[in-house]
Amino acid sequence: MVARLGGDEFAILHQGNTTRAELAEMAGRLIEAVSAPIIIDGNAILPATSVGIAVSPDDGSSVADLLKNADLALYSSKDGGRNRYSFFEPAMDEAARARREMEMDIRAALSRHELSLSYQPLIDIETGHPVGYEALMRWNHPERGAISPTEFIPIAEETGLIVQLGEWVIREAIAEAATWPDHLSVSINLSPAQMRSPGLISCIVNTLAQTGVAANRVELEITEGVLMQDSETNIAILHKLNDLGLSISLDDFGTGYSSLNYLRAFPFKKIKIDRCFVDGIDSRDDCRAIIQSVVQLAKSLGMTTTAEGVERSSQLSQLNLEGCTQAQGFLFSKAVPASELTDLSRPAEHLPRSHYV
Ligand code: C2E
Ligand code: MG
Ligand code: MG
Repeated sequence: MVARLGGDEFAILHQGNTTRAELAEMAGRLIEAVSAPIIIDGNAILPATSVGIAVSPDDGSSVADLLKNADLALYSSKDGGRNRYSFFEPAMDEAARARREMEMDIRAALSRHELSLSYQPLIDIETGHPVGYEALMRWNHPERGAISPTEFIPIAEETGLIVQLGEWVIREAIAEAATWPDHLSVSINLSPAQMRSPGLISCIVNTLAQTGVAANRVELEITEGVLMQDSETNIAILHKLNDLGLSISLDDFGTGYSSLNYLRAFPFKKIKIDRCFVDGIDSRDDCRAIIQSVVQLAKSLGMTTTAEGVERSSQLSQLNLEGCTQAQGFLFSKAVPASELTDLSRPAEHLPRSHYV
């Protein structure tokens, strides 16, 4: 039985002796049929669909179990992108349960005030002075304690909750920056899902207006994910934000695909070089070579560079030699709650001063 569960979601429930290969072939035909372009007012609309498949008796013997498992398979298809099908697998069940729990907890976290922002300084390598702070989300769960953003943000992204969380981060971080000296910027991480939210720009504009913070004090950090999905629309949004005076940085550069095409796609103000290269800059020739090239490339393109995850002064010396603009990492400070940011402009203490004379 093929059924449309809603929106672009289809389930195939099967009982009998059709092989998986035959079912897969059928799902492929279903996707192809639905995705035929439709012309409306001269515009070609491309419908997409996702399919989950559950087979009796392996995946359940009641209709309810089969439907539930087809639904789980469907979600796994959706994760992979548009126009895909997946067969149910038992591991999907456990993963889904944990995810649902986390999703409910994230929903509650905002209203229960369990979320907060911590701030980590970005240090100008030449002067040793902080030039701004990156806002990083923290979640203090009532039972599980501190949960890392690397754990909950992917789920908030999948469920769309990141839009709400992200708007809260924008309002909170900009309001915090309003209390800082004018020369300090605030960096805010933006998820790809936030770019699809129609409220993003108005949230930023309204917050700037309400707090009186100048747009050029706000840096938005995006990862290549933003340029991979819906890239044309996203690039247009980035241009709008740029026109408003905000700066856009490319975060975690060097991980993922790091296509050089991304550097052409948008005039980034800054490239943040991922920690994995910075980690080896004082011990490995390959890391040093890569950082050297990225710094040079950024310079030629008129962009600055921030090295992420600087933990040792030997790394800092090397980054200084390579001409990297800024550094961020535990060598200077971990991210701390706003209440602990006392002397915001104080130069980083334990810097090897010899670099700066
Ligand atoms: P990111 O934007 O690349 O942030 C840098 C991460 O590196 C932070 O981890 C920071 O605490 C960590 N870090 C900084 N210095 C060092 C160091 O010297 N050594 C080591 N080992 N780590 C260092 P955190 O806070 O766990 O955040 C992880 C990621 O979660 C962030 O990576 C960002 O992608 C995401 N994230 C955090 N807050 C937000 C947010 O408000 N919105 C969105 N969309 N994503 C966020
Ligand atoms: Mg970041
Ligand atoms: Mg990063």
